[in-house]
Amino acid sequence: MKNWDLEKAKELYGVDTWGAGYFDINEAGNLIVCPQGKDKPHVDLLELTEELQERGIRCPMLLRFPDVIHERIKLLNDCFYNAIEKYEYKGQYQGVYPIKVNQQRHLIEEVVEIGERYNLGLECGSKPELLVVLAMMTNPQALILCNGFKDEEYIETAVLSRKLGRNTIIVVERLEELDLIVKAAKKFRIQPKIGLRAKLQSKASGRWVDSAGARSKFGLTTSEIFKAFEILQKEKQLGALDLIHFHIGSQVPSIKTIKNSLKEGAQVFAELVRMGADPTYLDVGGGLGVDYDGSATTDSSVNYNVQEYANDVVSIIQEVCDEKAVKSPNIVTEAGRALVAHHSALIFDVIGLNRVEKTDAPPAVSKEEHKVLIELKDIYETLDLNNANEFYHDLVDIHDNSLQLFTFGILSLAEKAKIEQYFWSIATRMCKMIKNSKEHEDLYENLKKLLSDTYFCNFSVFQSLPDSWAVGHMFPVLPIHRLDKKPEKEVTLVDMTCDSDGKIAKFIDVEAGEPRNTLPVHGYSPDTPYYLGVFLVGAYQEILGDLHNLFGDTDAVHVSIGENGYSVNDVVEGDTVGEVLSYVQYNLEKLTGRIRKAAEHSILEGRMTKIEARTLMRYYQNGLSGYTYLEEPESL
Ligand SMILES: *Cc1c(COP(=O)(O)O)cnc(C)c1O
Repeated sequence: MKNWDLEKAKELYGVDTWGAGYFDINEAGNLIVCPQGKDKPHVDLLELTEELQERGIRCPMLLRFPDVIHERIKLLNDCFYNAIEKYEYKGQYQGVYPIKVNQQRHLIEEVVEIGERYNLGLECGSKPELLVVLAMMTNPQALILCNGFKDEEYIETAVLSRKLGRNTIIVVERLEELDLIVKAAKKFRIQPKIGLRAKLQSKASGRWVDSAGARSKFGLTTSEIFKAFEILQKEKQLGALDLIHFHIGSQVPSIKTIKNSLKEGAQVFAELVRMGADPTYLDVGGGLGVDYDGSATTDSSVNYNVQEYANDVVSIIQEVCDEKAVKSPNIVTEAGRALVAHHSALIFDVIGLNRVEKTDAPPAVSKEEHKVLIELKDIYETLDLNNANEFYHDLVDIHDNSLQLFTFGILSLAEKAKIEQYFWSIATRMCKMIKNSKEHEDLYENLKKLLSDTYFCNFSVFQSLPDSWAVGHMFPVLPIHRLDKKPEKEVTLVDMTCDSDGKIAKFIDVEAGEPRNTLPVHGYSPDTPYYLGVFLVGAYQEILGDLHNLFGDTDAVHVSIGENGYSVNDVVEGDTVGEVLSYVQYNLEKLTGRIRKAAEHSILEGRMTKIEARTLMRYYQNGLSGYTYLEEPESL
């Protein structure tokens, strides 16, 4: 059996699970993006990264692949068409993309364009999002759904947009909004389209569940729905009620929770119809999950696929409506994450490493030296498989004690340094010795973690992977090249911020089904670039990212993949240092002015030459217009 091949690489990094067929590894050992499968047009990520850098695009870079969004939109629609056919469902399906998941203009343009043939609509959850959606959605067949907290201005704008031919439905999240809608309808003599959001009792599970349950922020309780119905009836506006909606949270890991909420939501719909309402749509919200880690058990995974989801949505609604003898609604979904998570990847380079492993012989120790050192020397020399466990505990004790002795002034700095060297030498030797020993598996895991290198990486977790830091969400991370070679090391990753939370220390392990503490990687040397990619970052990460340590937006590139290779459609340059500083209210001219003044002062006092002052000013000004991440010096 071969020790290493591409199949092994795919298994190790779980490419076939999280990749969902959009990612693979080519013969050269590079990761590829292949929206329609390996045999269809694809792009080699290493080549792409290198060629983009030739064009001046910098690491870290965010790569967006609209072709992948295309596949996701098609997949969701195909799955619903299949389900409708399978169950002979009498209504239709129509999707809506909630823009809060990723509002970047280029992306919204792609979603609108790709979605046109499916009449894919847009959902907004705030006033700024409403203004985006009204301008961007030009397909009159597609829905515009208005959620979130609404004031009079929000509601009047939404109501008036119907005069533009927009298919706008205002979803009532709080009962007070209904009065405002009725008022606006009278004021402008427009028949609005109204939706009611039901607060379901069925609780979701998973990491983002707060959107459901009686205490959730949004939606109407059963009694409020009843009240809303009465208000509409009294105002003779029952005909305006066009949609019933519920949303139980994002990334719902279990199909069982989805089914339960569907049963409850479909009953709300059917009951309202029996009471005399005639809504066209039942909107089952978002929550369709993405399999980030391939485990089918954690909150970063799902135990169902898109077809199973569609089948359950269609069949459950059908069943409830048939039972209650009401007509089947058109089904709306608000899947956001499931449409865009796969389409983007963050690529960054390793810029250094911290190595604790020590393979060279430790320093000599004479009989006169501190007895701690003599003991360590003894452990180093007599270590074998039989005493490994015992010596490991001794080693840890001695290491802890040496700190105490040092703090009390008993050990010198030179002695402490020697102890440290012994500690790492012994741990390294022990780890090698027990590597293949069955009865030392636990110890081996401990030592491997203790001895793992740290790779310093050119990116910010807070800017680019906020969910990894904030809620421990898992994203697939792996090298994008050299995958034809067996990774010989295991490391943790730290980012450029000086925050101890700025790291990735949990990685997916498809085989074990639970996260591992280190990432298998290849050796790093400063003269050959080593690139890592974080995948499935297309949903929520960009807009939630923050400016910790003033690291700004990364460069972002839209890449289309066609028969004749790839093409770069849009480049969105990342923030300059100056831009990030202005976000926190610094005035660049004033900053530059201060440095210039200080330099002039130093020249006057004879501490600085004019040439030095000019050089400093140039560095300062270049710094302000430069990238917030580490940059290669410009060579033209
Ligand atoms: C956030 C949100 C969504 C999107 O959820 P996903 O899990 O990304 O599919 C859909 N509907 C509403 C009302 C939301 O607030």
